Amino acid sequence: MTAQDSPTPADELVCSGKGCRAEAVWAVLWRNPKIHTPERRKVWLACDDHRDHLENFLDLRGFRIDTVPVDELGPSDG
Ligand SMILES: [Zn+2]
Repeated sequence: MTAQDSPTPADELVCSGKGCRAEAVWAVLWRNPKIHTPERRKVWLACDDHRDHLENFLDLRGFRIDTVPVDELGPSDG
């Protein structure tokens, strides 16, 4: 876990890729059924370079729900 606890302004969407500071253009939605209830939805933000990597990681574990453009992400996810 990182120490990035401070709220992120909506106009500063940064990729969740390790060490990546690129602007995020994708929101990868996922849930771990073992620890998250069905209505929970976690979001990883991704740039074009890291989208595949993050999707792969989640697909391997069966956690991924969907991937949408960050523009289509609702305001209260996180
Ligand atoms: Zn990235």
